[in-house]
Amino acid sequence: MTSRKKAGLAVGVGVGAAAATALRRRWRGRSESTSTEVAAIPGIDQAAATRFLDNLAAAIRIPTVSSIDGVDPVVFGEFRALLEKSYPGVHAGLSREIIGDHTLLFTWPGSDATEPAVLLMAHQDVVPVEPGTEAGWDHGPFSGAVADGYLWGRGAMDDKGSLIGVLEAVEGLLAEGFVPTPTIYLLLGHDEEVGGEKGAAAVAERFAREGVRLGLVLDEGGAVVSGVIPGVPPLALIGVGEKASLDVEITAVAEGGHSSMPPAHTAVGRVAGAVRAIEDHPMGARLAVQRPFLEVLARIMGGGRAVLLRNLGWSGPMVERMLARAPHTNALIRTTAAATVIRGGVKSNVLPQEATAIVNFRILPGDTAAGVLDHVRSVVGDGIRVRPIDFGKTSDPGPLSSIESPGFRSVANAVGEVFPGVTVAPWILMGATDSRYFVPIADGVYRFAPLSTSLGDLSRIHGTGERIAVADAGRVVGFYRALVTSLGGKP
Ligand SMILES: [Zn+2]
Repeated sequence: MTSRKKAGLAVGVGVGAAAATALRRRWRGRSESTSTEVAAIPGIDQAAATRFLDNLAAAIRIPTVSSIDGVDPVVFGEFRALLEKSYPGVHAGLSREIIGDHTLLFTWPGSDATEPAVLLMAHQDVVPVEPGTEAGWDHGPFSGAVADGYLWGRGAMDDKGSLIGVLEAVEGLLAEGFVPTPTIYLLLGHDEEVGGEKGAAAVAERFAREGVRLGLVLDEGGAVVSGVIPGVPPLALIGVGEKASLDVEITAVAEGGHSSMPPAHTAVGRVAGAVRAIEDHPMGARLAVQRPFLEVLARIMGGGRAVLLRNLGWSGPMVERMLARAPHTNALIRTTAAATVIRGGVKSNVLPQEATAIVNFRILPGDTAAGVLDHVRSVVGDGIRVRPIDFGKTSDPGPLSSIESPGFRSVANAVGEVFPGVTVAPWILMGATDSRYFVPIADGVYRFAPLSTSLGDLSRIHGTGERIAVADAGRVVGFYRALVTSLGGKP
């Protein structure tokens, strides 16, 4: 605690001033052309963009790391105090509840209680910085430094950028006396990175008990991404669904003994064989689930690829083979399996009596956890114990949300306001978000953060060198403002 506090304070002062000067120097209403330029966004002035950067930097400097053992109440208390200090209007104009010790639920009463309510979500917690990787950061992971056209730090993209963006937009609208038509909830979870059980899941349970119906839920997950498909301009990926995550443990047990008289396959050998069998027998591809996404690609792509995408009736198998070539496109069309943990054996001259591997499945909407277990059992054969880990209520992927709904249109329109000309594409997330808990009580659940990034940069999330572009400062605030005002309200 102490070392961070000292460092944090020193850095704090530097960042605010640097950000302000950078913005003043570059904010002459010139349209953005390079990553260091702050995009001029209607309704968002320089001060709002500067405040966003300052407050995000301050939020990053408080390392709200969550773990399965819980969170540090002092750190999360400090984070709460920062939000109170930075957003007095939100804390005065909305009611705030604390759920599960640190999750914050704000309620902004709408003028029309018959309108389905809206839920805007983000999370306070961040994943740790893997020990030994600190040196890989150009700027300290908890510095909030602004440099080279970026704001750096753990949580910049995942997910404090959205958190601060939502609060900044609401604070600005409250200052203008804006009253929304639907009731708007702001949910800032504290344990998303460890499953959301105490935070978002608890709120969803309560909403269900109270019969709260949500017209629109917006959470993290999508972004404006360049390089998704070679030769295709940046796409605004709006998540309409997400894969479910399921860990499956496979175990072989065997007789022990001395390694000098081994059986044909030891427990280690049999588990290794089972892992290989799972890798060699991927679950079947289902192109159909990606049809809306591929139709968008077909519209913006030219040449032979567009012809293939427009005629999936006969080109399906070929397109499947093409997409299966790269991990990130292969993951679009099937439930994937990743063997991530293996253990067994204590000494090289002792036959292991048990060996175990864990395979993490990402289940494509339309597949089920039970189907995955059947598949695993069918490929690993006899003699291997197959057991799901933490088999629970969200082990099956939820249904996809409609791209025809007013909710999707509102999100897409707000994207168009701040990323003019960027193509919107419906997307299925590879990872899980807290919004999955609200699928049963919502008309539409979408995942999008108004940040521009590249496929290559996505590895910075949970990785090294996480950052957001300074140029996006106005866009983040502008997006949430455009979304909230588009839902109705006055003045
Ligand atoms: Zn996240």
